[in-house]
Amino acid sequence: MKYESFHNLIPKYKVIFFDSYGVLKTYRGMIDGANDTLKSVKDQGILFKVLTNDASRSPEQMVESLRDIGLDQVSPSDIVTSGMMAKDFLDNKRLNGKSIYLGTKNSAEYIFNEPGSGISIRDYNVEDFDQIGSVVFLDDEGYEWEVGVNKIVNLLRRKVVPAIVANSDLIYPVSKMDVSIATGSIALLVEHILNRRFIHFGKPDSPMYHYAFQNLLESGSYSKKDVLMVGDTLHTDILGGIKFGVDTALVCTGNTTQENVHVAVESTGIKPDYICDSIG
Ligand SMILES: [Mg+2]
Repeated sequence: MKYESFHNLIPKYKVIFFDSYGVLKTYRGMIDGANDTLKSVKDQGILFKVLTNDASRSPEQMVESLRDIGLDQVSPSDIVTSGMMAKDFLDNKRLNGKSIYLGTKNSAEYIFNEPGSGISIRDYNVEDFDQIGSVVFLDDEGYEWEVGVNKIVNLLRRKVVPAIVANSDLIYPVSKMDVSIATGSIALLVEHILNRRFIHFGKPDSPMYHYAFQNLLESGSYSKKDVLMVGDTLHTDILGGIKFGVDTALVCTGNTTQENVHVAVESTGIKPDYICDSIG
């Protein structure tokens, strides 16, 4: 584990995978200098992808929201989301019945190809459980947690159907000191109550890394040695990178800070190859 300036790391790799929240941006907007860094990565002939545990928007909508805060180097094909993995699963796996989703209408529009195949937890009555073939945890917004979690627990007690978690993040920072609870925590509560493990799609599970890497191979020949994963969260970005077999760099601009980085690494045992203050 080495402290290194991010700019010194860039030329050591042919491909960089960036996490989004806490790496490129925070609740305050763009990380200082992030857009110049992406530009410099491109100018050095290095490819990048953005791997995000976000199932609330399409890649096009994400690019737009990055542009709004001053990040104009990312195009939709650079983005890999946990929502894309969940969408692919729902598109290809033959599931019977309708899906219940916990999340916003917007997130559902992206995930479900056919209008009406997804029903919001708000519009679901427990008596209609026999029509339901799957449950999807998409977002922490768009429903009342207490009502939603009760409905889901009772549905899954009556009927065993696949449950999909499209974003495994437990928390996300909303200010310098405080965090908000993310979808993964809501799913974890239900998993704990029912003593079941659901199907997870975000980092640290490998489908997103595989997808991004396969996508790279279409534009040239790369090995995992050529790839650096950059993230702010040890148990998602960094653990996922380690499991996938690529080098990892932890930045201190999001979930992990310069103050808690040592305790975080010691207590989790998840050790990145590099620690950088920021990508900016
Ligand atoms: Mg992050």
